Amino acid sequence: MSFESSAIVRRLSNWHAAFLNICTNITQLALPQQCLLCTAPAMARPLCADCYARLPWLTATRCPQCARPTGDGRVCGACLAKPPRFDGVTAAFAYAWPLAPLIHQYKYAGNLALAQLLAQALNERLAGGVDLIIPMPLAPARLRERGFNQALEIARVVSRLTGVPLAANACRRVRDSVPQAALPWKERAKNIRGVFVCDADLNGMRVAVIDDVMTTGATLNELARNLRKAGAAGIQGWMVARTL
Ligand SMILES: [Zn+2]
Ligand SMILES: [Zn+2]
Repeated sequence: MSFESSAIVRRLSNWHAAFLNICTNITQLALPQQCLLCTAPAMARPLCADCYARLPWLTATRCPQCARPTGDGRVCGACLAKPPRFDGVTAAFAYAWPLAPLIHQYKYAGNLALAQLLAQALNERLAGGVDLIIPMPLAPARLRERGFNQALEIARVVSRLTGVPLAANACRRVRDSVPQAALPWKERAKNIRGVFVCDADLNGMRVAVIDDVMTTGATLNELARNLRKAGAAGIQGWMVARTL
């Protein structure tokens, strides 16, 4: 196929995708949607207002640095013993039922309508004070099998809602690692070491890293190490959910 004809095919397939997108939007407007959790009418959103309010919002006092619940809201023992390279974490939810299956449906069944909902929930908890949003980069193999980076889709919406610019390609994941969930906590830092490259100039910038779920914080810590090397002056984690 010549370059020109392949460009035409590409343009046609762009048109095709845009057309399908418009059809989907019209269908969503015309038909009341059912809530994913209780099947009540949910208008154009994936959840009804009741189920949204009953999600496991993280309300307990937390460590300001890693968002682990603490009795008094002061920096937790783990952060005092080994200070992380990030300055703070904001998380909207505890990674618990029924949020965990919703995030699963978003990531593995590609229900992208949930990106909007999860980003809106996160945005309700944000205090601002950053110059740039960076999505947690996804391993190349994961990106190939999933077709999208779940952190990037949430980051796009948060960027729109907050007006903070998005730097989608500031950092890359240069190699795959064993999925962190498959490893004991102690081995996670070693497993993730050296997987990121950040080649943007972030000199003096306050950066927020967006991801869907934070577990031990080892991945965020390793990305923060690279962000500091690239000049970042402040690093926040903006996480939809935090495992407790
Ligand atoms: Zn519902
Ligand atoms: Zn902490």
